Amino acid sequence: MSLITDLKELLLPRLCPVCGKLLMEGENVMCAYCAISMPRYRVTNIGDNLLLRMVWDRADVKRATTYLSYNHFSLYHNLVIDFKFHGKCDLAVRLGRWAATAAVKDGFWEDIDALVPVPLTRRRQFERGYNQAEMLARGMAEVAEVPVVNLLRRTKNRTSQTNLSGEERRKNAEDLYKAYVPDEWRGKHLVLVDDVMTTGSTLANCAKALLDADPSLEVSIFPLALARD
Ligand SMILES: [Zn+2]
Repeated sequence: MSLITDLKELLLPRLCPVCGKLLMEGENVMCAYCAISMPRYRVTNIGDNLLLRMVWDRADVKRATTYLSYNHFSLYHNLVIDFKFHGKCDLAVRLGRWAATAAVKDGFWEDIDALVPVPLTRRRQFERGYNQAEMLARGMAEVAEVPVVNLLRRTKNRTSQTNLSGEERRKNAEDLYKAYVPDEWRGKHLVLVDDVMTTGSTLANCAKALLDADPSLEVSIFPLALARD
């Protein structure tokens, strides 16, 4: 370790975003223990699984996968909190890369043309300085070797989803997203990217907006994590 690195570590200790312990040299995203204990979601069928069944009543989504599956009390949710609220956009890019790499063996990336991040409201994006879903998509794009395109727009500011029940969230999220699909992306296979899927309403509504704008599209979904109660 160089003197510069030593000083940097002393002034800005790098902590594991999951358990909060000090990271050792060579540990980058999280500590080795948290990395090997990650609650990975094992997909048996990218064309028929729990995630797809959560959205199929509202949108004809072709494939779905995710990287992590946990409940809201899991320490792994700290990863999302870190890149969503603590400015760690590089963490989102890295996790996007990991998630995309894990999906290669399932053939998830075959025939995919582009990645579409779930958008934030303009105000939220301005406050945060970035869209975490876009950062995840950028990491995924390096592996999938396809571009990230912003085809969705979040239309209205509504109340926070946090304290709403499943049914209320569903109503609240309807019509929040609008899509514009330029000619070059019509009829393509797009993957919607988001950080956490809870009820599936955000991803379902985004998929619906894309399919309403261009019914010849194929839409798949890839949230980084599936959070269950
Ligand atoms: Zn840790």
